[in-house]
Amino acid sequence: MDHLKFLFDIGQLDWVFKGSSTIENLLSKIVDMVAEYMRSDVCSIYIYDEAKGELVLRANTGLRPPAVGKIRLKPGEGIAGRVFKNNEPVLAADGFAHPDFRYFKGSGEGQFRAFLAAPIVGVAEPVGVIMLQRKENNPFEAQDIQTLRIVASQLASVLENVKIIMSLQHATRGEMPKAPKERLASVFLKGKPSAGGYAFAKATLALGAERFNEIAARSFGGKYGLAELASALEKTENELESLQKVVETKLSDAAAMIFTAHLLILKDRSFVGTMTQAVEKGKNAPEAVIAAGRKYITLFSASTDPYMREKAHDIEDLVTRIIRNLAGVEAGLPPVRDRIAVAGTLYPSELLKLSSEGVRGIVLLSGGVTSHVSILARSLEIPMVIVSDPVASRISDGDQLLIDGELGNLYINPGKDIVAQFQDRIEGEAGSKAPPAMVSVTKTRDGARVLLMANVNLLKDLDQIRALTCDGIGLYRSEFPFIIRKSFPTEEEQYFVYRKLVEGAPGKDITFRTLDIGGDKMPAYWESASKENPFLGLRSIRFSLRHPDIFVQQIRAILRAGVDSRLKIMFPMIFSLEEFSQARSMVLECQAALKAEGMPHHERPQIGMMVEIPAAVEIIGEFVKVADFFSIGTNDLTQYMLAVDRTNEEVADYYIPHHPAVLRAIKRVADAGRAAEKDVSVCGDMANHPGYLKYLIGCGIRTLSVNPAYLAPVQNILGAIDTAEAEALVARLMETGDLAEIAETLLGRERDPAHSRSAPGKTL
Ligand code: PEP
Ligand code: MG
Repeated sequence: MDHLKFLFDIGQLDWVFKGSSTIENLLSKIVDMVAEYMRSDVCSIYIYDEAKGELVLRANTGLRPPAVGKIRLKPGEGIAGRVFKNNEPVLAADGFAHPDFRYFKGSGEGQFRAFLAAPIVGVAEPVGVIMLQRKENNPFEAQDIQTLRIVASQLASVLENVKIIMSLQHATRGEMPKAPKERLASVFLKGKPSAGGYAFAKATLALGAERFNEIAARSFGGKYGLAELASALEKTENELESLQKVVETKLSDAAAMIFTAHLLILKDRSFVGTMTQAVEKGKNAPEAVIAAGRKYITLFSASTDPYMREKAHDIEDLVTRIIRNLAGVEAGLPPVRDRIAVAGTLYPSELLKLSSEGVRGIVLLSGGVTSHVSILARSLEIPMVIVSDPVASRISDGDQLLIDGELGNLYINPGKDIVAQFQDRIEGEAGSKAPPAMVSVTKTRDGARVLLMANVNLLKDLDQIRALTCDGIGLYRSEFPFIIRKSFPTEEEQYFVYRKLVEGAPGKDITFRTLDIGGDKMPAYWESASKENPFLGLRSIRFSLRHPDIFVQQIRAILRAGVDSRLKIMFPMIFSLEEFSQARSMVLECQAALKAEGMPHHERPQIGMMVEIPAAVEIIGEFVKVADFFSIGTNDLTQYMLAVDRTNEEVADYYIPHHPAVLRAIKRVADAGRAAEKDVSVCGDMANHPGYLKYLIGCGIRTLSVNPAYLAPVQNILGAIDTAEAEALVARLMETGDLAEIAETLLGRERDPAHSRSAPGKTL
């Protein structure tokens, strides 16, 4: 035979990989190929199963199929076992006469008596054995030993990987004993407050991929057939439909179609068909559901299209729901309702799903407090803490958790005394909350008028505002409907949402911030969702200007919806005069187009900008000549001035809004605005913070925009501030660059000689 050609072909295993959907498939292609080249009737590959200490027949051509996976040999047992143990080939003209021969009944190997077997040795360890068999009248020759050795070495690296993957699958199937998690008793973890409130409930762990893998690892003892599968599918469909309805009524702006992908997949004939056929062939229904799910997840995750990749998450979620409805108690899947969810990371859409399912609280293992998932959790009124302590990853399903979302504390399986301490607050959380009392006009102690506005992330926030004193909407984060949905909303869909916003605050200022996607707010369906350094990338106004079609639709929807309102349009993340004027021109063009179309719209909106990039602070003197108003986004201004990713828990200690550079930047912007008689507001989280409010007032800021939950407390604090004292405080702070001194002055922190840095501390 032509050895060189053979080796070359074996080296080109690519095509085998490409054409194989499963490992089994790949292995069976390999044995076919080897059998053909070695002119052999039978070719078998045994791979060593480390966990069980056995060689397992993993692929075969020529024998009866049920033998695969069934034939298992200890090292030293049978010819394959001997080859493996001694690491030496065996050639036998009549293998049946060999002292180590073992006959496998039912395999049909009786007629293939000529044997040739060689060990497969990987880089690190022995992998298995490759064995050829022919009919007795066609024995192997001595030179074939060398050929098979070469074949085995060519295949070794592939098969070594197969061995690893198979042992992983093994582990995932739960065949290997799992070390039970040690129960955490009365553990206290200090985290970061992400969304206020208290919750005390059992934990439900691991969403998405983790949960799917966990289910896939289970073995289901009960027998579930076609009838059970059909009823589980129907139940899941009904459940999803009613969840979708809940979400649509509660969160009409953001949530449209959030469960639609699930529902569509459930209706996909090939998805359901794959499961049904497998069950018809005798597979237990939970396994059929998992196998179908896995197939689709693999397909979707391999896609280069982020929209398709996002679908993999939908399948993971869907499979979990089907299994819960199918195998009920046996699946042992904890519910979400009335539980505290513990998750590594969360997409905004996942947060929304949890909210619609009645989650009580959330423990997030990574993220920053000013990240947009936190902002959304506040709007959804779900207490949330971010805990990076590795101990939190040892929380098990069913552990009792107590979240103090105000301080960012997490208690795991707390003792009775701790629970008693929180009892009132937890009950207060569950009961109906009366709106806090507020006076009708917000003023400082000495009577300076402050416009106290609200940040709105979801239309739902308007419910809170209605019963409170609020001078308008100082920031509408228009991107949430964009990032939660599965595709960009159309002009009409946006108009519908914006109109509700305008109607929700009649006669008051309404500040629409144009799309601020990017950073940690990239829609999953958008191509560049996974770019590195997204905060420094195509974010915000950069995105809008790069995609004028999307930008124009949004501006048109805003202008139309705001026709009869006190409309303000604000561009985020502006960094140059040219960028501002380009964005402004687009608004003017949209006005002209709407006019030409005879479409009712606002004809003279105020056009302003956010100050959140240090470059904008440096040229604020020029900006005040062109923009109608300013709003300082302290969340981003802090991140960009200090080069600290606002979502990165690792550098959370460096995220210091009272850094003198940030404080001075705020003062400069406030001074420039006052000199030019242009309004400067603050809409970042600094405006929520008791320690910083006095500073902002002292800088001359008279417009603040805060999350609705902070309206009452901020009004209260402002009422205690004296402007002259605040101005004196600012003058004093302008003289110092010492972080510890500033922290002591603003936050009342003790000077700590070992650490001059001070974290921002608790928000209200
Ligand atoms: C800010 O950056 O302070 C701000 C208000 O905008 P966002 O938090 O939405 O980025
Ligand atoms: Mg910002």
